Amino acid sequence: MAQKVTVIGAGEMGHGIAELLALHGYTVSMRDIKQEYLDRGMERLRWSLDKLVEKAQVTRQQADEALARIHTTLDVAEACRDADFVIEAVFEDVELKKKVFHELDEAAPDKAILASNTSAIPITNMAFATRRPTKVVGMHFFNPPMLMPLIEVIRAEKTSDATLQAAVDLSKSLGKTAIVVRKDVPGFITTRVLAPYMNEAAWIHHEEKVPIETIDAAMRYRAGFPMGPFELADQVGIDLLFTAQEKAGMPVPPPFQQMYAARKFGKKSGEGFYSYKEGRPKLTPDMAGSFDPIRILAPIINEAAELVAMGVASPAEIDEAMRLGTAFPKGPLALADELGIDKVLAALKSHPRFKPAKILQDMAARGDLGVASGKGFYEHRATAAEGAPPTFESILVAKDATSHVATITLNRPDRLNTFTPEMFEEIERALVGLEKDDEVHCVVFTGSGERAFSAGADLTAFGGASKAHQFWKVSRRSEQVFHTVANFSKPTIAALNSSAVGGGLELALACDFRIAAKRAKIGQTEVARGLVPGAGGSQRLVRIVGLAKAKEIAMLGDRIMAEEAAAIGLIMKAVENDGFEAEVKAFAEKLAGGPPVAQRLIKVMLNRSGDVPIDAALEMEAMAFGLVMSTDDVYEGIQAFMEKRPPAFKGE
Ligand code: NAD
Repeated sequence: MAQKVTVIGAGEMGHGIAELLALHGYTVSMRDIKQEYLDRGMERLRWSLDKLVEKAQVTRQQADEALARIHTTLDVAEACRDADFVIEAVFEDVELKKKVFHELDEAAPDKAILASNTSAIPITNMAFATRRPTKVVGMHFFNPPMLMPLIEVIRAEKTSDATLQAAVDLSKSLGKTAIVVRKDVPGFITTRVLAPYMNEAAWIHHEEKVPIETIDAAMRYRAGFPMGPFELADQVGIDLLFTAQEKAGMPVPPPFQQMYAARKFGKKSGEGFYSYKEGRPKLTPDMAGSFDPIRILAPIINEAAELVAMGVASPAEIDEAMRLGTAFPKGPLALADELGIDKVLAALKSHPRFKPAKILQDMAARGDLGVASGKGFYEHRATAAEGAPPTFESILVAKDATSHVATITLNRPDRLNTFTPEMFEEIERALVGLEKDDEVHCVVFTGSGERAFSAGADLTAFGGASKAHQFWKVSRRSEQVFHTVANFSKPTIAALNSSAVGGGLELALACDFRIAAKRAKIGQTEVARGLVPGAGGSQRLVRIVGLAKAKEIAMLGDRIMAEEAAAIGLIMKAVENDGFEAEVKAFAEKLAGGPPVAQRLIKVMLNRSGDVPIDAALEMEAMAFGLVMSTDDVYEGIQAFMEKRPPAFKGE
């Protein structure tokens, strides 16, 4: 297990990688070529740590300890002394990287593994600049390294299995998902598959004069991407895109050439395809006109399909890499199955710029057209078959047979676990199964990752619902599903691993109990978008915190920290981040050990208490009392009390 890691370069990526490593307990040495670059890197690193403390993601003590683990130097030999791992993050220039790897080979101990964070340059170039090519590997982090959940681990021509495994282990120890890129192709998975998103958009704009706003609006609102291709180009930096393509000998689309010549590099220079004087480009769904996103999706899918054919990674790995590394709303190959392989091929054949991948043509010839035919890049028949276990894309459902606790994890960490229309359907389907399952006594809802429980509705995923009445339909559906949560017959806990806002808080309000990690920020924020809460966020909120507080929360739309939420009774408890999972587990197990029938009756009565006059409510309680007396669990409860032992309830 690596203990000391050297980071070469203190720039955009280098300082972030150093911060991530130090926060995970590694001793870090960071090297750059000028003291001012090191100072700037450390300044940014301190700023970022302060932000994490401010957001309660780490404690002041953890931040200070991380800082104390980082040492900076201009001297490469000093930087590499005793290093187990060296991660290079210098400029994206193959000759510079080869020179740096040669130096590192001289300076680092024999045991050290040398990794490159290049976004696109084949690692084998750098490996052959050293005398230890078996110990050279790619580790492609994403920006910012602290937040992005993916690391692509690239096997170069001579990388040994042990080196590859060590890079995977290091990535996992940093809390990241590692996707192994099995062949050292330029651009690996993510850079390569993402490239057509911007390039194809630029070619269409250039050749057909389709306005950039039309293309961006279509990709944002029809295809569900967080940013349109031109917005993304401005964000990445047109100078970087231009030089990377030019160096790779690729034809650079003229719109990029023009922007580059005019030194309009995008957001960082204040202007690119858009001007940033007044914030983010203002795009609306109606700007998309009749532009069909398949025109840009098809070449993306083609690239991903070629990678499968080359044995670079499996469809599932490619899809996961694209979702986690580049915020694709869906993996390109899952999308291909949905669109239909025949339709994708037709789009590719419509323009001479594309060369349809043979694998796509073979699939079409075999009739493997995707969801419609039951098989494409994925098998779809098994899930449709009767009796097959339900499968979910946007949530994870786990069941612990010993503790009788089931957990539903909102699983879109790259999109802050935001809700899509499909996610509501999946939650309902999961609840139907768990309701019938006698092995399950308690259900916990939580979010994947450390950034969010859920940030509410993914407005980009409601692309098809851009017309107000359709959006209303989805909102209505979310309310129905959360109603199912509120009336679920077993106890439910919202375990707010991190922030819960908008629909995220509405789901939590529908649960019986809310426990939050201290890092969580909580808010009913719809009003900030000119909306009202649509899934119980006004009505359940007022019943929990009272009128005055509910107005404050829902009408201002601010976010409050977990401890304040606990103080006003919005959540049951705010727990230290480190102890959060253990606390939730203990509480869920306690609930799951309770008498199911009595719990169910108490829940129904309390849920109804606000709507029923006291006389009727007391009658209801008397009847529930009579009913519960007919269960075996009452006798078990009383017997256990007499025998001074814990009861073993059966729900009978
Ligand atoms: P950057 O320009 O911000 O930083 C590069 C740093 O390397 C500079 O501080 C520079 O002084 C330093 N440097 C140059 N030569 C050096 C040497 N011989 N020894 C030590 N330091 C040296 O660049 P960046 O954006 O951090 O990119 C670094 C690498 O990470 C590139 O290969 C890039 O492709 C890759 N990458 C970048 C991003 C991103 O979004 N910026 C994302 C993933 C990967």
